Amino acid sequence: MQMERTVSRRHFVELSGGSVAALGMLLYRFPEFEQLLAEAVAEIPVIWLQAGTCTGCSVSVLNTLSPKIQNVLVDPVVPGKHFSLRYHATVMAGSGDLAMKAMEDTAEMKGKYLLIVEGAVATKDDGVYCAIGEKDGQGITALEHAERLGRDAMAVVAVGTCAAYGGLPAANPNPTGCQGIGEVLADRAINTPVINLPGCPPHPDWVIGTVATIFLGGLSAVEVDDEGRPLAFYEKLIHDYCQRRSFFDTGKFAEKLSEPYCLFHLGCKGPVSYADCPTRFWNSGTSWCIGASHPCIGCVHPGFPDAVSPIYRKLELTSVSVPARTSTPTSTEAPEGISRPAAIALGVGGYAVGAGVATGVAYAIRKKKEGKGSSDREQSEEAGK
Ligand code: SF4
Repeated sequence: MQMERTVSRRHFVELSGGSVAALGMLLYRFPEFEQLLAEAVAEIPVIWLQAGTCTGCSVSVLNTLSPKIQNVLVDPVVPGKHFSLRYHATVMAGSGDLAMKAMEDTAEMKGKYLLIVEGAVATKDDGVYCAIGEKDGQGITALEHAERLGRDAMAVVAVGTCAAYGGLPAANPNPTGCQGIGEVLADRAINTPVINLPGCPPHPDWVIGTVATIFLGGLSAVEVDDEGRPLAFYEKLIHDYCQRRSFFDTGKFAEKLSEPYCLFHLGCKGPVSYADCPTRFWNSGTSWCIGASHPCIGCVHPGFPDAVSPIYRKLELTSVSVPARTSTPTSTEAPEGISRPAAIALGVGGYAVGAGVATGVAYAIRKKKEGKGSSDREQSEEAGK
């Protein structure tokens, strides 16, 4: 039989406070507790903004296997640093005003939160084509969120090619004026560092690995190329590490997808795409596109999709430097439209970042040394064009 007893709110607070104080006094007598305090996990608030996206990048990251997503969200990503995901429209439990309040509360932590952007930002007509949440009955555009949140974030991580360079939503004729977040911020003179993680979708390791590196060593620990991509994941040319490269070098080209030879004639964009797919593999190391007999579609390319379309058309190359034994043309015209991304907010040399990761320490963003980057890129363009 349950006994009813009335406890006033004031009495409850007094009881609770007394209990906590008593417990605290007891704990302070134990050095282990002091150690625990010293090792307290720092929360790194994260806002994950989904603009013009199919949500595939989120799905990819949710499929991370080492660590698993539950470990990313619950445990420290690196010792002492916890990825505190405050807002993510797809996976968060809250909705409506509650969800928007979570975003707003986090946005108040100026310089201390990490902004992850997924999807391109529609900029035409003041961004009216994409709204996320509302205020006083009015939709708030992704552009407005991007500007406000991007300005006060300690850093922005652009997850996926759409967020990094515009991607599919920005494909010709781009009626909504979609741009990557780096370009959006640069156009508005917002200097928050942006790290680009292209891919359609990006590999979960690229995302978790980059965030973990920031948490572990600060922004300066993420070495990027002149496209704002971490070298740890994007330094190598797919073509140079492809398991079918020997067939390219010896002039054996597949004419059907089922053939085990080089897929260059079937439209492979590996010669112009930088990523570690050939060695990292996907789906927990199971395989990758070319391993599954499909040409690389160049989804990590800054000009994707226009610059590397059509998917199954052989690359038109300029000043090709390929072994004479191959049957690849040695000099043809480059496709129109291949261009560098319009805006790279990171990698323009030695930014001092005002806010550090959780500690308030200023970090420096260092740019990949020009010589190294140019060398690799030239090598790629020589090999691939
Ligand atoms: Fe591999 Fe494609 Fe290069 Fe052929 S063209 S070696 S399939 S990356």
